[in-house]
Amino acid sequence: MIIAIDGYSSCGKSTVAKAIAKRLKLSYIDSGAMYRAVTYYFLKHGVPFKQASDQTAFAYDYKPVLNNIHIEFRINDASGIAEVYLNGANVEKEIRNMEVSDNVSHVSAIHEVRQRMVWLQQQMAGKGNLVMDGRDIGTTVFPNADLKIFMTASPEVRTYRRYHELIEKGIKVTPDEIRKNLESRDYEDTHREESPLRKADDAILLDNTFMTRDEQVQFVLDAISNLKKSLNV
Ligand code: C5P
Repeated sequence: MIIAIDGYSSCGKSTVAKAIAKRLKLSYIDSGAMYRAVTYYFLKHGVPFKQASDQTAFAYDYKPVLNNIHIEFRINDASGIAEVYLNGANVEKEIRNMEVSDNVSHVSAIHEVRQRMVWLQQQMAGKGNLVMDGRDIGTTVFPNADLKIFMTASPEVRTYRRYHELIEKGIKVTPDEIRKNLESRDYEDTHREESPLRKADDAILLDNTFMTRDEQVQFVLDAISNLKKSLNV
């Protein structure tokens, strides 16, 4: 079974995806972590990139750079959660900083970057049995996913949740920085030319503004059992 969870920034996709993966013994892949790892590499190595809206006017051969970027997920034995590795180094913490957050939507709008990441995500799926979250999983990466969920929540709730998540991780930010970052990423992600963020026609909408984590997980579990009933399995 392949479950695709897409949606706006910081609306709790990864929390729900991880919980579902654990409950159903599926693998979990955070596709956003892959775009973040590429962005981290670009920033560290001075690879040029521009605002998402300028991408078409910006000619640069990204293929040799992308050939030097190796992204993989390894399970953290203590937490049981897959963590992202860039060229053999664990970069889970580094990819969550504000510099990466402020630039990731520009990097993820680059055609060659998307092509490479989508290919990698499809390879990682192997024979299936996974939950993947992101922006284009139900529309582009797995258009035939068994279940597609599209998540959203009010901007205030998303800002509040993200702020507390980063503060708990020891990353210094202000609520205003978070709100601006979410607004600009949502804008870039929904307006880019290639596979923009949008709800797939057959995705189920989950607005979790007033829902607890457990209620959201139950919502997805119910959607899975409805699906199984409709397929008679
Ligand atoms: O999920 P997360 O917020 O970590 O994703 C970071 C960024 O990566 C998004 O704002 C988006 O620009 C990009 N992304 C994407 N396609 C995906 C997953 C993430 O373009 N499937």
